[in-house]
Amino acid sequence: MAIQSINPANGEVIETFEPFTEERIDQTLARASAAFRQWRGASFAERATLMRAIASALRAQRAELARHITEEMGKPIGEAEAEVDKCVWNCEYYAENAESFLANEAAPSTSPRSYVAFRPLGVVLAVMPWNYPLWQVFRFVAPGLMAGNTGVLKHASNVTRCALEIERVISEAAASVGAPAHLFQTIITPGSKVERIIKDPRIAAVTLTGSDPAGVSVATAAGSVLKKCVLELGGSDAFIVLEDADLDAAAQMAVRARFQNTGQSCIAAKRFIVVESVADEFERKFAEAAAALKVGDPMDRSTQVGPMARADLRDDLERQVRASVAAGAKVLTGGEPLPGPGAFYAPTVLSNVTPEMRVFREETFGPAAAAIRARDEAHAIELANDSDFGLGGAVWTSDTSRGERIAANVESGAMFINGMTASDPRLPFGGVKRSGYGRELSSYGIREFVNIQTVWIGPVVSAPPVSTSAE
Ligand code: NAP
Repeated sequence: MAIQSINPANGEVIETFEPFTEERIDQTLARASAAFRQWRGASFAERATLMRAIASALRAQRAELARHITEEMGKPIGEAEAEVDKCVWNCEYYAENAESFLANEAAPSTSPRSYVAFRPLGVVLAVMPWNYPLWQVFRFVAPGLMAGNTGVLKHASNVTRCALEIERVISEAAASVGAPAHLFQTIITPGSKVERIIKDPRIAAVTLTGSDPAGVSVATAAGSVLKKCVLELGGSDAFIVLEDADLDAAAQMAVRARFQNTGQSCIAAKRFIVVESVADEFERKFAEAAAALKVGDPMDRSTQVGPMARADLRDDLERQVRASVAAGAKVLTGGEPLPGPGAFYAPTVLSNVTPEMRVFREETFGPAAAAIRARDEAHAIELANDSDFGLGGAVWTSDTSRGERIAANVESGAMFINGMTASDPRLPFGGVKRSGYGRELSSYGIREFVNIQTVWIGPVVSAPPVSTSAE
């Protein structure tokens, strides 16, 4: 079946793509494998030259690439441009730092000289989501190519144009600096075909960013052939507000943390857990600021909230909100889809949310916030941890040591004190519980897809030394 890109701002089909045939998938994997045999021997300086050429190409083509992002998934154009900028940052960051992240490490042992080396692993498959169509992919591309691996991408079907543009940018940059062809290729195929690609012997490992059901499928397929996988899955991050917080600052940041990217971020704050004594005031400030957001055409620079990426996702959110309201949640603002041909949903704040409601238990991937009341700090921590997910989180307090104490007790891959969870190439990114495992970004991310090889150098002797310990 053909794959379509549909502009979510107006429902119009932008472009239709034919999925790859089995033969074409086979050819793509053969090329990726051949490219790996060349690329694995490239020096860090050669890899960095390519990475910098990719960064320059992204910078030069920022406007065009941002337009593709906005047309295919609807984020406001300024956010799409910022996304391209972040990809540039990540390419330059790994160009600068990969060599030191992967430098040999001395490891004292029975040998006068033994060390740990970080060798390339092979062709890595990336299965990626549509919410940051470029950034999610570059989080994988930059460390992957710098580690000496090659990559194939199975992108979300609704952002196929972006997937092809990423391949084009990388292959043109490679040609411009004399790097091998086919270091990074896109495969156009539905999610249902991913298992067969994971099981192909030319694939060394797989990374998925997506929902937890997709995570289960990918981990099952990878496990059945004993291949490594990294899973970056969903989240239902807590945003805790304590009675000593600066409520104006917390409410302003809450709006950004929930409604940026039209609420479609894995690390968006989703559950606003507020201590009772300040809950009325916080909720009022938060709902007023949410109601003031300008919703509209994502190509208009004054728009703050665009359409959701697909009509079916908007309908899912609508069902979660309706069910929660039926169970007793109160609508402070929004609470319904907006009329018109696009997949718009009004920025929504629900109060009186309790743990059995869908907006608490499930990930809400759109512009709807759930406000929950906590009796005190201990109850706030208990509510934060009462989730299947554990990706990010935030706590607002004027006492940062209190914030650190809370961070230590929240089960999540990140905690931001007096801020909002955000990705940064310098900081590891990933989750616990159903939010997945493994890490992206920083020195931790680049070491996920390498062979950590022990090198032990004995003296030159005529007979092998006698082993004195168990293997
Ligand atoms: P999704 O439906 O799980 O899709 C993600 C990717 O997986 C797409 O390429 C999709 O392909 C593919 N896929 C779907 N089902 C699959 C299966 N059974 N086997 C193999 N591949 C499969 O998620 P999404 O709607 O694109 O993205 C939103 C989700 O991603 C949210 O849950 C969000 O929290 C999560 N996310 C997590 C992070 C993180 O870093 N932790 C970052 C961003 C997003 P098709 O499009 O062809 O179905």
